[in-house]
Amino acid sequence: MHELIVIGGGPAGLAAAAFAVRKRMDALFISPGLGGRTRRKLLLPWVDDYQVIIGEETIQRFRSQLDYLEFMRVRNHATKVQPIDDGYRVTIADGHTYDTRTVIVATGSRGERLNVPGEDELEMRGLCYSAMTYGPLMVDRRVVVVGSELLALRAVAELSRIARHVTLVAEDEGDLDTEAGRRILSAPNVEVRRGCRVVAVKGRSYADTVVLECDGQQEALSTDSIFVEKQLIPNTDLVAGLVELDPCGFIKVDSRNRTSRPGIFAAGDCTDASAFQVLMGLGDGEKAALSAYDYVLGLPLEVKPCEE
Ligand SMILES: Cc1cc2nc3c(=O)[nH]c(=O)nc-3n(C[C@H](O)[C@H](O)[C@H](O)COP(=O)(O)OP(=O)(O)OC[C@H]3O[C@@H](n4cnc5c(N)ncnc54)[C@H](O)[C@@H]3O)c2cc1C
Repeated sequence: MHELIVIGGGPAGLAAAAFAVRKRMDALFISPGLGGRTRRKLLLPWVDDYQVIIGEETIQRFRSQLDYLEFMRVRNHATKVQPIDDGYRVTIADGHTYDTRTVIVATGSRGERLNVPGEDELEMRGLCYSAMTYGPLMVDRRVVVVGSELLALRAVAELSRIARHVTLVAEDEGDLDTEAGRRILSAPNVEVRRGCRVVAVKGRSYADTVVLECDGQQEALSTDSIFVEKQLIPNTDLVAGLVELDPCGFIKVDSRNRTSRPGIFAAGDCTDASAFQVLMGLGDGEKAALSAYDYVLGLPLEVKPCEE
């Protein structure tokens, strides 16, 4: 039986596994690849490489620590985590199972896609899924945000402080008519296209046009960049029913990255505490690994209040 299994090879999982190696834990690392979402980088004609590689560079250090540790790595998807005596059994896609005392789930989340023509070809070429990350690159640009819920409103709020003009394309009312929504959408450089949906994304080298359908009529809208901010979907199926999830499916964790089940910890974008940034994921992974280590050492994980 292993002491720890880390599931997921993004920043959170890499940091957790690197910590476990340093502590000489008997750990296994299950992930189809290394780097997670940091492997993708937005390309735009006016953006130089150095402006967008912070996440990737940081992660490279952790990757190189783990790359050579083949014996502790399983290159596959985990499909199930189930309780056994004194720990957990993790099943991977080919049916193999591995037993462990503790588990760190660091499987990340994915953005809901548009599923329209042009999306696959132009993804990360002007069409992207993270205003939180790439908003700062949009100084004085015209941008389109797609979505109607808090995620989209957040993107509009951020981009309207930086970009020249922001168009929000909202298929339904979502959170638009809330107090925050009304305030954010009242900015002078924000325009809302209600009841419109994106039916195609176009561009020769970079996405520079969205085709909208509004009241059955199609129209082309030119733009410098498109941010799809519909919904984040956490990759948490493998622990659904085992640990407590929030209504959107994110794993609930406390300040020590414990889930509702002793011995299972979670880190990064799959948790309800994530800030969806590389550095946060790294810190989270390290914290979860420290908690798993303390658990294996038999130390109490409660935060003891200081005496007066
Ligand atoms: C397009 C884009 C660009 C971004 N750029 C930046 C940036 O420049 N700077 C920044 O700070 N943040 C950036 N972010 C945000 C940042 O990438 C994420 O916050 C961060 O990667 C989250 O780390 P994570 O380890 O929690 O999850 P992820 O990076 O999503 O990694 C999850 C890992 O788990 C694996 N996995 C999933 N399911 C399973 C399973 N069942 N079994 C085994 N493995 C599994 C995946 O293969 C992946 O390796 C960007 C996000 C996006 C979408």
